[in-house]
Parts: sequence; C-alpha cells; structure tokens
Amino acid sequence: MEWFNDCVAVGIDLVLLGFCVREYVNCKRTFRVLKAAPQYNIDGQLKSVVEKQPGKKVPYAVIRGTVTPIGDPLQGSLNGVLQIVKLHEHRIIRGIAGLWRENHNLIHESPNEMPFELRNQQNGVEIVDAMKTSFLDVDMVYDNYERSTLSIFDYICGFFSGSLERGFPTTEDLLKDGRLLTAIGELELNGNTLRMQPSQKGPLLLTTATKFMIIKRLEEANRENILKLLVCSTISVILIAYVVRKIYKRRNKKIEEAEIHNRLETERRMDRPVILSQDQLCVVCSSNPKEIILLPCGHVCLCEDCSQKISNTCPVCRGKIVSKAAAFIV
Ligand SMILES: [Zn+2]
Ligand SMILES: [Zn+2]
Repeated sequence: MEWFNDCVAVGIDLVLLGFCVREYVNCKRTFRVLKAAPQYNIDGQLKSVVEKQPGKKVPYAVIRGTVTPIGDPLQGSLNGVLQIVKLHEHRIIRGIAGLWRENHNLIHESPNEMPFELRNQQNGVEIVDAMKTSFLDVDMVYDNYERSTLSIFDYICGFFSGSLERGFPTTEDLLKDGRLLTAIGELELNGNTLRMQPSQKGPLLLTTATKFMIIKRLEEANRENILKLLVCSTISVILIAYVVRKIYKRRNKKIEEAEIHNRLETERRMDRPVILSQDQLCVVCSSNPKEIILLPCGHVCLCEDCSQKISNTCPVCRGKIVSKAAAFIV
C-alpha cells in the first residue's frame, strides 16, 4: 500500500508534466509559425500576390476584414453567418470527499453556418470550414436557464444516488455580420476566388484581436507554461528522489537484517546442546531444539530452520501465525 501510494503520486505528477510539455510545445510552435506568417491587406493586389506563390497558396497568412455573408444571412433577431446553439444539463454531484459540486454536461450542440467572407471595400476572401477554428470569437446573443421542477421523492433519490438535476441552460453564440475580424490560415487562390482554410502549418484562427495582440497573448501563455513546467518538473525530481532514497534505505536495511540473522543463526547452531529430550525438540524436524515462539497462539514448537519454511499456521494448534520471535528457554 505504501509503494502503491508513492507510485500513484509519481504517476499523477508525470502525467501532469506530460500535459505541461505538450501545451508548451504546441504554444511555442503556434507562436513561431504565427510570427513568421505574412500579413496581407485585402485589396486588388492580393490575388496577383497569391498567384505567384507555389501552388497558388500561402501556407499560413494573416488577413483582416469585415464579416460579410455570401447570400442571405441566417434568419433571427440578429443577422449572423455562424450560429452555435448549445443545450446543457446542469446537475449537482457528490464528489469523492462527500462535497457537492456543480456539473454541466453538453447534451446537444447545433451548429449552423452559411458561406461568408472577410471584406475590405470591393475585395473579399471566402472563409472555408469556419467551424474547424481553434479559436473563434463569437457573441453570446441568447442565454436561458430552465429550472427543473422536482418533487420531494426526486430530492430523496438524488440525495442517495449523489446526483441531483437542477436545470437546463441554453445558449446561442453568433458571429455577427459587420464584425471586424482577423483570420489566420492557409490562403489559396481557387479559380478566381480567394479562400482561407485550415492549414497544416498552424491552427485556423478567427478573432477580433490583431496579429500583434495574439502574439503578445501567446508570449504571456509561453511564460505561464514555462512556470508550470518548472513547478511540475521540480515536484517530479523531489518525488523521484524521495522514492529512490526509500528503495535504497530499504535495500540496505534488508542486507543488514540478513547479516544479523545469519550471524545469530550461526551462533545459535554452535550453542545448541548435544543431548535433548523429546519435549525439547522441534515438532517438525525432531533434531534441533525449540527456538521460536509463534504469536498469538504462544506455542514454542519450532526450530529456527523450520520456522523459515512455516509461515501460515501453527503446526500444533493450526492457529494463524501473525508474528514470530526468538524464545529463550532457561
Ligand atoms: Zn525444526
Ligand atoms: Zn499454536
């Protein structure tokens, strides 16, 4: 159990360290590709610039323009091009320590999108697969909470089962027309249309922030990640050093114990009386004297040699052996 706890502690810390390393590497890579990504104005020159690139593609580019639907915008009280309706289930759940905590489960998500582009006066770039963005700036335009009506029976059942329903929050997020957005992704000239789509170089981003602001945020996130890495790796080193020291100490103790045991055994064998009555002999081998007391039954019936081989039940009364000690009969 003692080793199990140590292994669990080291395991959890190593998993956390793994997450920190992954977050740091991802953040650093995004920062590097974003910093190197060229920023283009959406104007009459953009098509010819992209046309000159290999495969008529810029692998990772930054553009900024106004959200404009291609066709009719989504119907609703507000005009938008991208709508995400989410229905959650709100429960309170009893945790391991017996404390109740809030829990929100997504039970339904309904995305709805229509073609749109980022425009600057007469020129535009179509945004493809906007739902695949890693970061999407949208406005919450609807937020409703439908409280559950519970009977006393529901409360009693919930108390014993450790899970009690509270209600159903519904939210609606909308990317509105006319929003000034920065889009970062692969810029491609397809026929006569400029398109921005998910890139293999980095995540597709749709945000109100400028490139400068995103880089600044990533720098801050990088600093936080380095701090997390330092804390996690320090804890790992301390934990591993503690476990190694414990193993080393235990190994030394075992070697010492074995040495003492061997010495005592040799001394005892040398001191054994040559002539013994039947009552004084070990009940198993009938050749050595009785030297060990079995506890808790208290029978002194075994010699040192036989006590090494018998560890479960007393050969006299069949009682369970909890511990053994040297018996000195004078
Ligand atoms: Zn014996
Ligand atoms: Zn016994």
